[in-house]
Amino acid sequence: MVGVALPGVNPQLTPLIHKIVGDPARVARRAAALARIGGRGTAVTRLGLSDEERRAHALVGDWLRRLGATVGRDEAANVVGRFGGMGASVVIGSHLDSVTEGGRYDGALGVVVAVEAMDALARARVRLRKPVEVVGWTDEEGVRFGIGLFGSAAAFGRLPPRAAGRADRDGISIREALRAMGLSGDPRKARIRSGTVRAYIEPHIEQGPRLADARIPLAVVSSIVGILHGRVTVRGRQDHAGTTPMGQRADAFAGAAEMALALERGAAARAGAVGTVGEIAARPGAKNVVPGECTFSIDVRAPAQRTLDAVVRDLRSSVARIAKRRGLEASIDVLNAVPVAPMDRRLRALLRRSCAAAGVDAPDLISGAGHDAENAQLAGVPTGMIFIRSRGGSHSPREDADPRDAARAATALAYAIRELCA
Ligand SMILES: [Zn+2]
Repeated sequence: MVGVALPGVNPQLTPLIHKIVGDPARVARRAAALARIGGRGTAVTRLGLSDEERRAHALVGDWLRRLGATVGRDEAANVVGRFGGMGASVVIGSHLDSVTEGGRYDGALGVVVAVEAMDALARARVRLRKPVEVVGWTDEEGVRFGIGLFGSAAAFGRLPPRAAGRADRDGISIREALRAMGLSGDPRKARIRSGTVRAYIEPHIEQGPRLADARIPLAVVSSIVGILHGRVTVRGRQDHAGTTPMGQRADAFAGAAEMALALERGAAARAGAVGTVGEIAARPGAKNVVPGECTFSIDVRAPAQRTLDAVVRDLRSSVARIAKRRGLEASIDVLNAVPVAPMDRRLRALLRRSCAAAGVDAPDLISGAGHDAENAQLAGVPTGMIFIRSRGGSHSPREDADPRDAARAATALAYAIRELCA
């Protein structure tokens, strides 16, 4: 621009205009720094409420402090950096834990993108009139204590009953793990008072192939699938595998196998639904004994509540029918049921505009995985999500994402924050 004289414009008087733009190099650096905590090669093991997770929170806290935030930790060990003063805030972020031998980007990249969005806004000298909080949620994966989305559930008042008493394999409870970190041990105290959060926006890798296949870097999430987790128990009769004729058996495993296939068929028959049996155990568990009891897990997900309910209803009737025909007893215990969480309509529109400002024509995508965002939305906080293209699946060391895509997400998020808070 130097030397170009525009008629009527004095370059000395033209104010500096800084573009809001996320920086891929900074994103890559921060993502790599987080990946080193609990990392080995491209694998990361940073379980919820572990020392590794605490160190990741501390690192993110340092970044946020350097950008001018007031950083604190709530009673569920979530790290929160607040920009701006009093009043209700817009919360952005994701989680910092991983599964065992997971990847570098699930959760962590969302936090890095949120930090980068604040960095980009600061560099563009955007003045925020309303507060923004960047959060790193604790224990989203629920590997150690079996409660997924723990930190956000505590913050949004959606913890299951007696959550603090839940223990890991070594008998250490959540209460004890929190106390060991210098907290009170009561995660319910992390609950955010209603009316103090205006909106929650979570950037996250897609964890699936759809964006990579379509060659699009970003998407706006339209809804998060509903999930039902349950356990089916099938009781038959334990018998000698050699002396019991085929027509006289009550084989609990064979019945369970038929029920698993019924779930597969039922889910395949309904658009968008998926059904999985991932764990199965036969008792007594010996090769020469007809199994007397069999238990198996069920994981059913669907983008519409009606579809989810229908798959579960079909499964219930199949299980009853198969049990009756085979002379078995069967019961289904629902362990966890999370309703479908549609994302906020106005935030979806805002995020589409924001992605366009970052140069991306972002399509709508349904999230097949659960996310902290659903706790916010189900608690009545307007919620939106941006998906970042990723490769190599997820919950695996093959997980991969391009820092340039993440930087675009940061640009989009920064535009959204400017519109909500500046
Ligand atoms: Zn995640």
